Formats: sequence, structure tokens, C-alpha cells
Amino acid sequence: MSTASVTFHRRAEDALANRQLNATLRRVTARILDSRAAGLGRLPEPDVWRDHGRAIRAHTLAHLDRYLDEFVANVELRGGHVHFARTAADAVRIVTTIARERHVRRVVKGKSMISEEIHLNEHLEAAGLEVVETDLGEWIVQLAQDHPSHVIMPIIHKSADEVADLFRRTLGATEADVADVPAMTRFARERLRPAFLSADLGISGVNFGVAATGSICICTNEGNGRLVTTLPRVHVAMMGLERIVPDMPSLGTMLQILARSATGQNLTVYTNVLTGPRRADESDGPDELHVVLVDNGRSDVLGSSEAEILYCIRCGACLNACPVYQQIGGHAYGSVYPGPVGAVLTPALWGQEQHGDLPHASSLCAACREVCPVRIDIPRMLLTLRARGTDEGRAPVWIRQGIGLYRRLAMRPRLFRLAGRLAAVATGALARSGWIRSLPGPLAGWTTSRDFPAMAVTSFQDRWKARPAERSGTRRGKDPA
Ligand code: SF4
Repeated sequence: MSTASVTFHRRAEDALANRQLNATLRRVTARILDSRAAGLGRLPEPDVWRDHGRAIRAHTLAHLDRYLDEFVANVELRGGHVHFARTAADAVRIVTTIARERHVRRVVKGKSMISEEIHLNEHLEAAGLEVVETDLGEWIVQLAQDHPSHVIMPIIHKSADEVADLFRRTLGATEADVADVPAMTRFARERLRPAFLSADLGISGVNFGVAATGSICICTNEGNGRLVTTLPRVHVAMMGLERIVPDMPSLGTMLQILARSATGQNLTVYTNVLTGPRRADESDGPDELHVVLVDNGRSDVLGSSEAEILYCIRCGACLNACPVYQQIGGHAYGSVYPGPVGAVLTPALWGQEQHGDLPHASSLCAACREVCPVRIDIPRMLLTLRARGTDEGRAPVWIRQGIGLYRRLAMRPRLFRLAGRLAAVATGALARSGWIRSLPGPLAGWTTSRDFPAMAVTSFQDRWKARPAERSGTRRGKDPA
């Protein structure tokens, strides 16, 4: 078992012991799943839209090189610059160089999963820059020196009281400032506005890049995305290279299913489509636009059996629907991408050596596939990753030895029957009223939250042999049941 897998289990145990976290997760995910169902319900033939969205993602990724070339050419045609970052280190170096060469001191940031992925803030701060997150949840995460725990609700793990305490402790907020959520939001806005006005550089994520026009689409619900991308003199847009759509009609389809799957809204409140930097006849917008296309393992995933995970549009629905995520939240996964999507994407991008246990963080109930707007078959990939981990000898020792023992027994019928009888005696000795409340050793996890049945004293084969009359009756068709 790898260190990372031990950490996953320990984190999951800690999360399970946190009753407040469990209750908050269950309440919020249930509410947002209801909103999702209502949002999709308002769309005529939502399944047709989902199928269309999936077809767009499949087609785009099958021709990614062509669409990337087209996107780059159109960004540059409209005055923007495109930088290709093969690794996280490349991406950090590119952004740091842009900032240094333009004598940037203060950076304001919109929500960007890619920048979380490459730990951009830490690197920019190490380079002497002041970085201010401006998405409310991300700002709270930054103040708390915490990490996001959901792809669209970064502080789903925090209560309003915890945020109030944080504002008092770190910013000297008064009781009036933290009286309720609207007061705290007002307080945050008053603190953040000066940062927008004094920043030299704005960094945003990108929900979609449109190949046909070189536009980037950024969806936010707080308006901070508009301020980050238009007020500072330089805008750097961080984009995973898979986030391309061919054209504006394709973008329209993706937007229809993204917001509804994420929050239940018909459309994200601020859905910005930006094409190039400020033009000569325009009064607002940045002097420079730089798009940083980040690979960081994606090209390798593209040619693998997990390529389908790159269809993901980061709506977060699979997290909300997952019974594992609903119990443990995002931090237990130890990755910027938690939940079912993260259980595939994290080991696919950065290897099963470090993240081999994540594909096991699933009951394989397939709720993730049911809610995914682009119908990504996450359970299939979880099974592929599990099988690969076992083939490569990364399954825990007790599982490997257990499967090996079972294989040897199953190939020897007499020994198999004998083992069955011994198991019936052993489980019978441990059971009360036919149920075992607590299994020993590595099996104890099974009985943490449910009982285990004692094995039948008489095996199915023995009972079958003892019923020759019924057996022959079945042959004659007397007992169709
Ligand atoms: S895998 Fe599907 S449901 Fe999960 S975040 Fe991505 S698009 Fe949404």
C-alpha cells in the first residue's frame, strides 16, 4: 500500500468522524442535486442536449490538434498571445516571466482549477508578488490557508460560523460585519474592490476556448471574473488544453448543460465571452491578453483508456451524487480534483503509484454516470484503473494474498467444499442470531457500518444433492419457479 493510499484512508477516517462535515455535505449536496434536476427539467429534451454535448466533446478531442491550431491562430489574429506549457513547471515559469517583465506587483485571480493544479499562488508569492483570490469561496480558502474541497463550491466544508470566525480573526471584522451571510458578503466585497483597482495583472481560468473565433468563455456567479479580466492592464487566462469547443453553436450547447448540471441555473450569472485584448476603439479591457495552454499530463491521457475523462466540463454533479463524496468531502482525496471525476483524473494524470487508492474510493453505484452532463463512463474507468493496479502489484498485500488463496481453492473442488465448511463453523462461532457484528483483522472495515451474515451450515451443493425429487420435478417442468 502506498503512502498516498494510507493518507487517503486516514483522511477519510478523519472526515467520517467529523459529524458536522457529514451533515453539511449531505444537506448541501441533496439541495444542489434537487436544483440540478429542476434545471435540467426546464430544458426541453435534456437527454438530447446531453447526448449532443457528449458528441461535441468526443469529436473535439478526437481532432484536438486541429482545433488547437485553429484556436491559437484566431487568438493571435485578434491580438492575443498563446503560450504552451507542457508541464506545471513550464506554466509557472511562463506566468512568472510575464509578470516580471511587466513589473507586476499585485495579482488578482478569478477561480481557476488549473492554477490550483500547478500551485500557482505559492510560486507567484515566492517570486515576490502579492496574489489576491477574488472568488468569494477561493478568497476564504486563501485567508484560511486551506484548500478547496469541491470543484464549484470551494468552501462546501465550511459553515457560516467558521467563516465569521475567520473574518474576525484575520481581518478584524466587527459583529455587524459578520451578522449574517449577506453582511459577510458585503464585507468581502468592500475588501476586494480596492484590490481589483490596484492590480497590474489579472489571472482567470477558462471554461471553454472557442476554436473558430479564438474567444475564451469564463463563467462566474459573482462578477469577479469580469473585473479580473478587464481592469488590470494584463490578463493571463489559464486553460487546460482539452477545454476547446469547435465554434459558437457548440459553446451554446455546452453552456446549456454546464450551469444546469452545476447549480441548476439556466445560465451562469456572468457568462463572459472574451475575444482578444482591448482594441483601439474600446474603452475597457486589458492591454495584453495571454492564454497559457496547460498540458501537464493531458496528452498522455488522451491516448489512454482513460481519455474519456477529458470530456469533463467541471460541473461538479458527479461529486454531489457520489455517496462516498457525500460522506467524506473533497479533502480526503488529497487532490485538487476530488470525487468520482478526481478518482479517475488524478491517477490518470499523475500516476497510480501515488494515487492508486483513489479508484477504490467508490461503491460503483454509477450515480456519477447518471448525472454527468456528457455521460462520462466513470465506473468503467474506475474498474480499469483498479485492474491495472492489481496487475501491476499495487493492491494491498492482504487483497493479493486473499485473491491468490481463493484462486487456489476454487480450482480444487474438494478443498473448496472443505474450506466452505470450515468458514461456516468459524463464522457460526462469531455470529449472534445469524449475524456477525464485528469481523477481525483487515475484515473489520466491513462491519464498521453493517453486519456480516454467518455462512450457511449446509452448502447450496449439499442441499441440491439432498433434493433429488424436486430436481427431477424441475426437469419435468412441474416447478417453473
Ligand atoms: S465528470 Fe461529468 S459530472 Fe463530473 S464534473 Fe465532469 S462533467 Fe461534471
